[in-house]
Amino acid sequence: MNVTGTVTPTAPATLTNADRCDRCGAQARVRVVLASGDLLFCAHHAKAYEPNLRDSALQWVDESAQLVDAVETTVEP
Ligand SMILES: [Zn+2]
Repeated sequence: MNVTGTVTPTAPATLTNADRCDRCGAQARVRVVLASGDLLFCAHHAKAYEPNLRDSALQWVDESAQLVDAVETTVEP
């Protein structure tokens, strides 16, 4: 047995459509990295929980700005 261990730092991945808010199931906009694990929140719940979680969060990754462009707007001629 030859086991090659490659240590890859676990960087927070970019949120996708598959990532859902842990509270309401809406598309996640914010990833909160805690010592106990990650939490995903929509923009609404991120704001709601930010005062309580900011101090204990190791990382607060707000990707809401990046997702604005993903919203398709159809302009009728
Ligand atoms: Zn939510």
